[in-house]
Amino acid sequence: MEILQRPQVRTPLPGPKAKAILERDARILSTSYVRPYPFVPAAGEGVWLRDVDGNVFLDLMAGIAVNTTGYAHPRVVEAVREQAGRFSHVCFSDFSSEPQVGLAEQLDRLAGGGFRVYFGNSGTEGVEAALKVVRYHTRRPYILAFTGAFHGRTLGSLALTSSNSKYRRGFAPLLPGVVHVPYPHPYRPPFGARPEDAGQVVLDYVEHLFKTKLPPDEVGAVFFEPIQGEGGYIVPPAGFLPALEKLARKHGILMVADEVQTGSGRTGRFLASAYEEIDPDIVILAKGLASGYPISAVLFKEELSSWPPGAHGTTFGGNPVAAAAAVATLDLLEGGLMANAFEVGTYLRDELTRLQAGFPRLGDVRGRGLMIGLDFVKDPDTREEDPELRDRVAEAAFRKGLLTLPAGPSTLRLSPPLVLSRDEASVALEILADVLKALA
Ligand code: PLP
Repeated sequence: MEILQRPQVRTPLPGPKAKAILERDARILSTSYVRPYPFVPAAGEGVWLRDVDGNVFLDLMAGIAVNTTGYAHPRVVEAVREQAGRFSHVCFSDFSSEPQVGLAEQLDRLAGGGFRVYFGNSGTEGVEAALKVVRYHTRRPYILAFTGAFHGRTLGSLALTSSNSKYRRGFAPLLPGVVHVPYPHPYRPPFGARPEDAGQVVLDYVEHLFKTKLPPDEVGAVFFEPIQGEGGYIVPPAGFLPALEKLARKHGILMVADEVQTGSGRTGRFLASAYEEIDPDIVILAKGLASGYPISAVLFKEELSSWPPGAHGTTFGGNPVAAAAAVATLDLLEGGLMANAFEVGTYLRDELTRLQAGFPRLGDVRGRGLMIGLDFVKDPDTREEDPELRDRVAEAAFRKGLLTLPAGPSTLRLSPPLVLSRDEASVALEILADVLKALA
């Protein structure tokens, strides 16, 4: 596919072919699928996606923060082709092989060392495995998590998820023993606190729980996202995560970093935890790890590896084709994509912050690297969330050929492939400025 410098929308949206597929989709597919706008992909290259009607879109959503190296990166395509030509499954739970062993070694090095690695197929499976490591190793019944968190939708991870009650409605009872505390949102601090106290009030609340109802020596772990993803791309205040780590260490509580969305270079570092210099006991990766091929990795500290053979496993986990795609992805990240995510992400966020000055209903611009959230409000003084405006911005951007996604109650998330260039980011900025002029 030729690389275009601008989106090209030539048909009404959806075009006739997309419309026909969506009509069939509506008749046969599970009604649980969300279709935020009528986009039906046909092919992609880099950050550009063509739909089935030949319209070309600039992609700032990357299949929900997944396609790290963009579409059809030649190095990833080559790695997949080579591995598929050798073997695509033998069952890594039973038989060791390359490229998985090499991938585990590379992940351990990138995450700072001292880990063992377990492979699954998806983020939620990674979270389930992490829950089992915690349970098995600590034998403690309670888990701490944050409101606004998203950790997946299988019944264990769903007990941790708390970003929207629609994910839980109708599915109770869930895993018992999960206690949620508010996430320290600097823009909308919990307990009516001042923004500068957002972290401290949460820590105080955790200590209060420890004194009044939650014996800290019975808490196995605290699960956290270093930047809340589905909850609205919320960066916690500087110093919060190290203080949480200190409190957890005091009570022998494991720190579990869910880096499913923040990890794999998206924020400009391999792990977003690195920004706060914390040292999680367990790290969960998925989404962007293999540029779109399904794999998750749970990295847990050597000393937590007490479970015996057979205690956990899965038929497809660590699929060799996905693992080969992950190795190619990590090589590209180390070869410059992480640096690009930081550089282009900083440019994009700075420019959006500049743009924000003219649009008071764009209440907050936040994020790290190429994980950027735009929070829309009804009124900048009350900071009341404006989900309708956010949805209208996403819809209008789509009609102009720019793909974005919502996150949280009122945030538009920008999570493009990490190959996004400065020029491509400028095109996105122009479109967003036009949309805001028309709507905000
Ligand atoms: N954890 C986080 C932080 C996520 O953002 C997600 C998905 O959005 C998950 C876990 C679940 O991953 P999956 O959808 O691959 O099961």
